[in-house]
Amino acid sequence: MKFGVVGCAGRMGRMLLREVLTSRDRGCELVGAVAREGSSALGHDAGILAGLDPCNVRVEDDPVPLFADADAVLDFTTPTATRRFSALAAQGKTIHVIGTTGLSDGDENALSKAARHTPIIQAANMSLGVTLLEALVERVARTLGDEYDIEILEMHHRRKVDAPSGTALALGRAAAAGREVALDEKAVRSRDGHTGAREAGAIGFATLRGGDVVGDHTVIFAGDGERLELTHKASGRDIYARGAVRAALWAHGRKPGLYTMRDVLDL
Ligand code: NAD
Repeated sequence: MKFGVVGCAGRMGRMLLREVLTSRDRGCELVGAVAREGSSALGHDAGILAGLDPCNVRVEDDPVPLFADADAVLDFTTPTATRRFSALAAQGKTIHVIGTTGLSDGDENALSKAARHTPIIQAANMSLGVTLLEALVERVARTLGDEYDIEILEMHHRRKVDAPSGTALALGRAAAAGREVALDEKAVRSRDGHTGAREAGAIGFATLRGGDVVGDHTVIFAGDGERLELTHKASGRDIYARGAVRAALWAHGRKPGLYTMRDVLDL
């Protein structure tokens, strides 16, 4: 299967290059790597960029030939770039695996339109562990009901600029889905000062920032006399790249549509 990576000079981009180049035994071949115009990575060998041996793929700045040639393109970039790439994926009928976060409603609509023409797999967290955690949280929330208070705690490195994390919000949506409520109506995203007692049915979020923590998430179900805590800890970013390649392999030969990692894992 022919793979391309866009945003290949980014932190995740390099991880994705590495994952594709070290997955030859699974039939993966890197056919193109695209960086932003003006990037210092342009013209460099993609293997070297990934910290591996040269692979004879030069980093280019034009994504059009890549989407025409590749079977699947892995994209962890920015919302604006991802929106443009999804249109190219639709034209080329290229599988588009999207890890980019912070997409607006308009961006999401554009992806839905592109997904009429090609398989698109999108997830704010592509790790297999977090995907399973989401499914577990939905299941537990459905079983335990409102008498167990749900609190979602996350910790990330000191450079992270948004809170709560996209993954924490996805876990909140999973909990809300289990209870058949809308997260927007139940979420309590911060607490300070005299907040009053906790409202029944609220889904609370708490955020910690510090050090080089890749990403820890705990969903707490606190009842009277017992507490159930489900935790995922990421110790490296390679888990996201591994999930992205797995998603692309899964999508090969599938009908056009907008899929999630839960589809990929058949959850
Ligand atoms: P980064 O800033 O290191 O990398 C982004 C790269 O995209 C940069 O190299 C940038 O130059 C490039 N880019 C931007 N516009 C481009 C364009 N038009 N053409 C080509 N390249 C372009 O950031 P990062 O840490 O690698 O994260 C990237 C995205 O992935 C973020 O949205 C982040 O939140 C998300 N992310 C998702 C997951 C997941 O599992 N879904 C995991 C980690 C990060």
